[in-house]
Amino acid sequence: MFDRVLIANRGEIAVRIIRACREMGIHSVAVFSEADKDALHTRMADEAICIGAAAPEKSYLNIPHIISAAEVSQADAIHPGYGFLSENARFSEICSSCGITFIGSPPEVIEKLGDKAMAKTIMTKANVPVVPGTDGVIEREREALTFAASVSYPVMIKAAGGGGGRGMRIVFNEKELKQAFHTTQSEAGAFFNNSAIYLEKYIEEPHHVEFQILADVKGNIIHLGERDCSVQRRHQKLLEESPSSFISQRQRVKMGKAAVKAASAVGYVGAGTIEFLVDRNGEYYFIEANTRIQVEHPVTEMISGVDIIKEQLRIAAGEKLSKTQRDIELKGHAIEFRINAEDPSDNFKPMGGKVAIYQPPGGPGIRVDSHLYTGYTVPTQYDSLLAKLIVWGEDRNEAIRRSRRALDEFQIEGIKTTMPFHHWILNEKTFLDGEVYTDFVEKHY
Ligand code: ADP
Repeated sequence: MFDRVLIANRGEIAVRIIRACREMGIHSVAVFSEADKDALHTRMADEAICIGAAAPEKSYLNIPHIISAAEVSQADAIHPGYGFLSENARFSEICSSCGITFIGSPPEVIEKLGDKAMAKTIMTKANVPVVPGTDGVIEREREALTFAASVSYPVMIKAAGGGGGRGMRIVFNEKELKQAFHTTQSEAGAFFNNSAIYLEKYIEEPHHVEFQILADVKGNIIHLGERDCSVQRRHQKLLEESPSSFISQRQRVKMGKAAVKAASAVGYVGAGTIEFLVDRNGEYYFIEANTRIQVEHPVTEMISGVDIIKEQLRIAAGEKLSKTQRDIELKGHAIEFRINAEDPSDNFKPMGGKVAIYQPPGGPGIRVDSHLYTGYTVPTQYDSLLAKLIVWGEDRNEAIRRSRRALDEFQIEGIKTTMPFHHWILNEKTFLDGEVYTDFVEKHY
């Protein structure tokens, strides 16, 4: 096992990784930007190194600075968390060429899955069902029009290098497709440094169901069940739960096998997520794979008892998975609420500010992953996620009742948060019936 791990991230995920390191007796090295000198991860780690100015490209995305920090602190491995450099194949490669273990996927796997169009082509070959779409990326508008006519509108234009809910457009007719084609292409070039785009049939009112995967270097691959992430706004997740109320046990088994097959098709190593959309008829389609720890991983930890961060560290150190598929027992129901520094009454506008009071809930079945403390000032340069409230119950009903209780207890004063949204959804019939689909929030909130 590693002696010293550098965490190339900030916020709640950096804190989460420091906790895993501490439990495993690993010395943790935090890196921080000038805006984060009072951040919790900076204070909590065994050691903390400033890597530059507040702007992400000057610090958390600055590869030379991070590698220097790893060398100075003699870290043997780097955990990238999520976002920032976590799915950057070049960073993964630079780490290994400097003799530092990248706690994530090998560069060739990141490359294959990071290009969403290429990933779909690989999955089609591996017999994993994919959303009907163009055969890889397309360059000409004419190809787009032919495809759309063959599957019928609406269709989605997607950036091959897109992520985080960005780089996607729904078009309902030929006129809209013509208008959006080149705009999406040039935006993709500007945002993702990759102007490649492809088209997909737009699945109406789908459920987003993803499977958590663990794979070791010896070729063992298991899944830890699914997470239903259908509660979204602008393709960004707001709440995740497991198990999904929408799929049957038979489907769960089938989709779990498909997820393992998908991971195996690319020689997957590490923790990862295979994402599917499930349509009204229960048909499922692969949309993409994420080669990193996900924000919503605690949902799976709560029902499986597996510490996914520790598993990542063990896998990166070359150890065999500690469990086989048969050992995995999923128990009860878990829901995660993303509490963001956003104002739901003002179109979810992000905002920083000083936290006047921070008082998290407690009691049975409650977990809070957060980097907040009373008196902390939330910077505006970064992701708006402040805290994740994860609630476990014997069944969905208990988890929902407990969630209401926990949200009532949760006090974050001084800044606007998405908590009012969560209070709302916990009383919304469609959610209570387990029937929320991905554009439900936009239609009803
Ligand atoms: P990202 O990498 O940006 O998260 P994904 O491909 O995972 O993008 O898609 C994010 C969300 O966008 C999905 O959960 C779903 O809500 C919506 N979406 C993506 N593809 C489709 C599709 N073909 N039809 C309908 N909704 C889609």
